[in-house]
Amino acid sequence: MFPTWLLPLAVCVFAALIVLYCLFLCTQLSALLREAAAAAEAEGERGGERGLTAEEVQRLEEGTMAVGGGGVCVVCRDEMEGAQAVRVLPGCRHAFHRSCADAWLQRQSSCPLCRARLLPPPLPLSTATPAPTPTPVSPSSRV
Ligand SMILES: [Zn+2]
Ligand SMILES: [Zn+2]
Repeated sequence: MFPTWLLPLAVCVFAALIVLYCLFLCTQLSALLREAAAAAEAEGERGGERGLTAEEVQRLEEGTMAVGGGGVCVVCRDEMEGAQAVRVLPGCRHAFHRSCADAWLQRQSSCPLCRARLLPPPLPLSTATPAPTPTPVSPSSRV
């Protein structure tokens, strides 16, 4: 009832199916690995220009308009008035509306006005040696 020539044929077909299945798994796996590597690479590239975290922004200096000396917030192009809370950036001492500065700094870690690179402020309970004070950037040096 079972032709003798059918058995080797069935074995061959079965083996071929297994090989095909392995090849399929391999392509799937390598595609996944490539995707993961590309994602990691993009993550690393973004890391160079990333903004501060919300927590780091919260540690930045806050003040009222007296600190900034008045003027226009370059982020929203609106006047900064006396009662408004402002965020003073470390280093260049430029001031912006607090909400404007917070939103900006979470996108990129540079001053919206003079583009001075902003480093996250050190943790308050840092045991490390105090960081050297950054050299102040004069806006008049950029013409
Ligand atoms: Zn603003
Ligand atoms: Zn600045």
